[in-house]
Amino acid sequence: SLEKDEDGFYTPVTSAAVASTSTDPVPAESGDKKPVNSDLIDSTFEVTVTLADQQVDPNSPLYSVKTFEELGLHQDLLKGIYDMGFSKPSKIQERALPLLLANPPTNMIGQSQSGTGKTAAFVLTMLSRVDFTINKPQALCLAPSRELARQIMSVVTAMGKFTNVQTEYAIKENLPRNATQITAHIIVGTPGTMADLLRRKVIDQSEIKVFVLDEADNMLDQDGLGDQTLRVKNMLPRTHPVQIILFSATFPDHVRAYSSKFAPNANKIELQKEELSVDSIRQFYMDCKNAEHKYDILVSLYQLLTIGQSIIFCQHRHTADKISARMTAEGHKVASLHGAKDAAERDAIIDRFREGRDKVLITTNVIARGIDILQVNMVVNYDLPLMNERDKSAEERPDVETYIHRIGRTGRFGRKGISINFVHDKKTWLQMEQIEKALGRKIIRIETNDLDEME
Ligand code: ADP
Repeated sequence: SLEKDEDGFYTPVTSAAVASTSTDPVPAESGDKKPVNSDLIDSTFEVTVTLADQQVDPNSPLYSVKTFEELGLHQDLLKGIYDMGFSKPSKIQERALPLLLANPPTNMIGQSQSGTGKTAAFVLTMLSRVDFTINKPQALCLAPSRELARQIMSVVTAMGKFTNVQTEYAIKENLPRNATQITAHIIVGTPGTMADLLRRKVIDQSEIKVFVLDEADNMLDQDGLGDQTLRVKNMLPRTHPVQIILFSATFPDHVRAYSSKFAPNANKIELQKEELSVDSIRQFYMDCKNAEHKYDILVSLYQLLTIGQSIIFCQHRHTADKISARMTAEGHKVASLHGAKDAAERDAIIDRFREGRDKVLITTNVIARGIDILQVNMVVNYDLPLMNERDKSAEERPDVETYIHRIGRTGRFGRKGISINFVHDKKTWLQMEQIEKALGRKIIRIETNDLDEME
């Protein structure tokens, strides 16, 4: 009962119904700020929708909508959406928004590929649920990095441009030390700082009604941010229900069960394994002779890296520092970003890159997730992501989820992108092979001396 369209996406299935592929004309662009790839909007991908309330008719128009108007959003929010240049919801927005906005509020565990518009879905939910006449925090959103928190905030302010929404960050070094009370409606931040502000009652939790985890699998991971995220959750009000919303492109098995406990009785939108990475990202690898040769290859790619913009991922901060210092000394213009830099510096580096003033960003897993910079058309895995970066006791298995997120920094919203993995010995080759297996996709070899193949 599945139908694959040109993009290799499947039509969505609910337990009872197969939604029709969209054949309606794309409405005229209402804004011209962002080029919108209508292929992606019209395409669909395979999702399995599990409804919390099995009594609800899956054929109900509530579960599939074709325009933002049909979602019952406030006029001011529609204005914000069109002002951003969006004309039609993406599939995840179409599927998730009716479930997210329905009353009484129901939890959501939503999965959709990188760059398919999850952020807009949860931001609209937060904005829709805020009562602008109450000057107290009403929605909290957590993300794994300050860079992502800042980006989410820019979506909140853009979508909320025609509302009276007040916002505040819960990220390091942002609030004055003696801040005593945040009255903003929506607070976006990282879990440690958010937990701290709640504990100190700088954030009054009494009116909070929405709690969002972006990159939820990462936020809940016991080896990472899980503890801090749980601290935040435990400080939410118990006097009324809080809608818990989890979104990610990946939900590996080991967090799936916990996610369901964290967000009980949730509506679930799940992807099939084969659909985890988007087709618009072409995946390659290069056989380097040894670890040192990787550097030479990277330098030889420089021209290509600067055609658009590119992100180079390394395993360690010191590698990112080393290769960027070396490339800079050799006359190439590159920037480097990682978690050991201080907050102001990090903000300046990502802002410069976002504005296109730097073309090549050498970094670590710190920005593997969520960062949305449309001009990034190439991602290089200088080092493949490994599990033992997340969990020191883990073996040197490839970290498939991080791989998916890293390459997802390109190919945003249907745009084309290229990823190149550097392998340099048997071990790294086998690790890449495991990634191929997990994704059910071939990663294609390109000769280190033949770059034309990618054109
Ligand atoms: P995700 O959170 O799934 O990784 P984002 O929400 O960051 O994806 O969206 C990816 C890009 O697509 C962003 O630049 C965003 O502005 C854009 N986008 C999202 N939804 C739409 C839409 N309905 N129409 C046009 N562009 C959209």
